[in-house]
Amino acid sequence: MDYPEIKKYCDEKQVTLVAVSKTKPAEEILTVYSMGQRIFGENKVQELLQKSDQLPKDIQWHLIGHLQSNKVKQVVPAVTMIHSVDSPNLLREVHLEAKKINRTIDVLLQIHIAQEETKFGLSTEEAKEIMNGQLENLTSINIRGLMGIASFTTNEEQVRNEFRSLKTFFDQMKNQKRNLDFSILSMGMSGDYKIAIEEGSNMVRIGSAIFGSR
Ligand SMILES: *Cc1c(COP(=O)(O)O)cnc(C)c1O
Repeated sequence: MDYPEIKKYCDEKQVTLVAVSKTKPAEEILTVYSMGQRIFGENKVQELLQKSDQLPKDIQWHLIGHLQSNKVKQVVPAVTMIHSVDSPNLLREVHLEAKKINRTIDVLLQIHIAQEETKFGLSTEEAKEIMNGQLENLTSINIRGLMGIASFTTNEEQVRNEFRSLKTFFDQMKNQKRNLDFSILSMGMSGDYKIAIEEGSNMVRIGSAIFGSR
């Protein structure tokens, strides 16, 4: 359990730590909770809902995995942030469900930065279109920033370049929008969070380095 060390590292760099608890039982989450962690990330809607039911109510749950339209209604009341919005449709649906329950949900647009085909996410062009679109109508969502997953490779230079290009795009969008709320860059996992932070990440999603391998 390297939680205290990782937490200290993130605090020193002023980076928000999302502890990724997917596949881990409630008792292990409680251990990390008791050390002060309040933000936990899950990638599956059912699992997130079960855990949010069982665990302390002051936990902030972040959905970090792909979200299907038919699960939006269930998940919206349980989360404070969704990292994985990857279509205009999904954005609208999250807005509508959040509106119904009188809440505003923070969302990140997931950008495809890896070379692998399998990763979800928007191209920078698609994200630009969304950001330049009719967002005024989507009053119950707040686009807080971007999320990206680097290639799963031992080639550090490639990983670094992917993070760097996302940071460049993030800065572009931020300057263009001049919107103070657009301030979160979620990049970095157990294997690459130090590189991600060096390249400008301010939110990391760390699972196995905290909870052990899955
Ligand atoms: C599982 C997962 C993580 C954490 O992965 P680790 O390598 O265990 O740190 C981060 N982000 C997403 C989107 C994930 O699905």
